[in-house]
Amino acid sequence: MPTPVLPLADRYGRVATDLRVSLTDRCNLRCTYCMPPEGLPWLHGPDLLTDGEVNRLVRLAVERLGVTEVRFTGGEPLLRPGLVGIVAAAARLTPRPSLSLTTNAIGLERLAGPLAEAGLDRINISLDTLDPERFVALSHRRRLDDTLAGIAAADAAGLTPVKLNTVLIRGINDDEAAPLLGWALQRGYELRFIEQMPLDAGHTWRRDNMGTVAETLARLRAAYDLLPDPAERGGAPAETWLVAGYTLADGRPAKVGVIASVSQPFCAACDRTRLTADGAVRSCLFSREETDLRALLRGGASDDMLAERWRAAMFGKLPGHGIDNPEFLQPSRPMSAIGG
Ligand code: SAM
Ligand code: SF4
Repeated sequence: MPTPVLPLADRYGRVATDLRVSLTDRCNLRCTYCMPPEGLPWLHGPDLLTDGEVNRLVRLAVERLGVTEVRFTGGEPLLRPGLVGIVAAAARLTPRPSLSLTTNAIGLERLAGPLAEAGLDRINISLDTLDPERFVALSHRRRLDDTLAGIAAADAAGLTPVKLNTVLIRGINDDEAAPLLGWALQRGYELRFIEQMPLDAGHTWRRDNMGTVAETLARLRAAYDLLPDPAERGGAPAETWLVAGYTLADGRPAKVGVIASVSQPFCAACDRTRLTADGAVRSCLFSREETDLRALLRGGASDDMLAERWRAAMFGKLPGHGIDNPEFLQPSRPMSAIGG
C-alpha cells in the first residue's frame, strides 16, 4: 500500500509543492550580487549530502510530502559530479515530479544531452549580459562564450523552450533589457528579469540602488509593445507579458517575464521548500533558521522521522520575507550557499 501523503503546509494555509535542491555551494563564476570575487569558505566534502542522501530526501519529498516539482540548483549544479545520476533517480519516482535545473550553463555543452536523456524537463539559464567585457565585470570570469555555447546546447538537446534569467543592476547592465529581449526573441528563448535581492555575500544591497521591475518594463516598452498575458498567473512569481508581433517556433505567442521579488513580493502565494547542499531545510530564501536533516539521516532516522521534521520546519514558515521592515536582517548564508 502506498504511504499516505501529508503535505508541507504552514500556519498561513500555504502548501509547499516546489522543492529547490542545492547540490553544491561552489561556483565557477563570481556574480557580484551573489558571491565575493575571492569565493567563500566552501563546505567540506563530508558535510555535503552524498548522491544517495540527496536521492533519499528527494524521494521522500515526492512520495510522502506531496512535492510535485524538483529544481536542482546551487552554487553551480553542473559542478556536481553525480548530477546526471541524481536527475535520473528523480525521474524514476512515482508520481513523476517535474524536473528542472538552474545553471550558468558553463559545461552544459557536454551535459545538455545526458541531462535531457536522464529525464530533465526544463532548464533556466542565467544570462545578465551579451557583452564579453561586462560579463567579466559582472562575474569576474571570462566565460561568456561558454555560457552561450551551453545555451545553444540546451536548445539542441530539446530542453525547450530555453528559459533565461537576467538580473539587471542599475547603471551596470540595465541598458541591456531590450537588447537581451531581442536576442532571446530571435532564438525562441523565454526571458525573465529578476529584481536583485539582499542575498549578496558582501551585504552591500541597498533598496535605493536596486533596479526595479517598473524600470525594466519602461525600458522594454521603449522598444516593444507589451500586452497583458491572459494566462492565469496562479502562484507563479513571474508576471508575464506578450510581446506583440513575436511568436515562438511552435506558434505560441512570445512572452517576457518580470519577477518583482522585492517591490511586489509574492510571499502569500509561495509554494517553495528548500534543501541546502549540506542537508538543511529552509522554509524561505530569507529564513534565519534552518532545520538540519543531515544529522538525522546519518543518525539512522526513518523516512517517517525525516518527513515529520521537514513538515515541522515548513509549518513555522514566516508570512513574508520582510525586506521592507526596518528590522530586516539579511540571512547569514548568501544566495550561492542557499540555492537560488
Ligand atoms: N549558478 C546557477 C545560476 O547562476 O543560474 C544557479 C544558482 S544561482 C544562485 C540561481 C539564480 O539566482 C540565478 O539566476 C542568479 O542570477 C540568481 N541570483 C543570485 N543572487 C541573486 C540576488 N542577490 N538577487 C537576485 N537573484 C540572484
Ligand atoms: Fe555562481 Fe549562480 Fe551565484 Fe553567479 S549567481 S556566482 S553563477 S551561483
